[in-house]
Amino acid sequence: ENCGSKDEKLKNTLSKIKHKLVVLSGKGGVGKSTVATNIAVSLSLAGKKVGLLDVDVHGPSVPRLLSLKGEHPHVEKDYMEPIQWSPNLWVMSLGFMIPSDKDAVIWRGPVKMGLIRQFIEDVAWGDLDFLVVDCPPGTGDEPMSAMQLLGKDAQAVIVTTPQGVAVDDVRRSVTFCHQLGNPILGIVENMGGFVCPKCGEVVDIFPPGGGEDLAREMNVNFLGRIPIDPEVVRAGDEGYVYVKVHHESEAAKAMGRIIKPI
Ligand code: ADP
Repeated sequence: ENCGSKDEKLKNTLSKIKHKLVVLSGKGGVGKSTVATNIAVSLSLAGKKVGLLDVDVHGPSVPRLLSLKGEHPHVEKDYMEPIQWSPNLWVMSLGFMIPSDKDAVIWRGPVKMGLIRQFIEDVAWGDLDFLVVDCPPGTGDEPMSAMQLLGKDAQAVIVTTPQGVAVDDVRRSVTFCHQLGNPILGIVENMGGFVCPKCGEVVDIFPPGGGEDLAREMNVNFLGRIPIDPEVVRAGDEGYVYVKVHHESEAAKAMGRIIKPI
């Protein structure tokens, strides 16, 4: 049972965070972590104070994407310091707490919920313009806990790919948000089109407009389309941030446009 003072602590932490964005996807491999990380970095480069929280217990990707593997947050009696990645981007990941990649993590729902709660309220996030939360795919314990703890003003950003099979996954994510009563900021179509490495033009692979049609059908905003760029894969593998290094590319511009740095 949570006592009153614990709820106070959570409320206090959340009151200092202006916008809470929870990045969801129906299934793995659609680029959710890549999009969450690049959104967070884009916003920070636009001068916003940003927190990036990775609540993927089983496969945290943020430490790898930001070259922060092996970092350990400084822990005090009643708070933890997030890892500072740049002057205005702070990062927390369950990956910082797991001794090694090879350690299989078998935690049940209530344990995960407790951990996620700690990662929100016990982290000294300070005043933030945005907290971007990267959840594991699907609609399981982690996204559910994250949404419930962050409160009804936490907005979902749903990442999908243009293939037809993604429709049902998106529908599940949309229903999930409706059931929890959380607003959906919109849908992002990732890997729509391919940036030709020779000329830089975007070539369609799947029929264009799928994500947009889907958003319209589900009565949800369409936040934009990010093309496939092989440099995104390389950036992820080598641990540098795509939008920071390739800011002139189509995909980086698309990533930068997803969330308006209000
Ligand atoms: P998820 O979090 O949905 O499981 P990831 O963010 O780990 O997905 O991305 C899966 C793979 O797709 C990674 O290798 C990543 O580099 C690649 N990827 C993601 N977005 C793009 C893109 N727009 N262009 C090219 N590759 C991408």
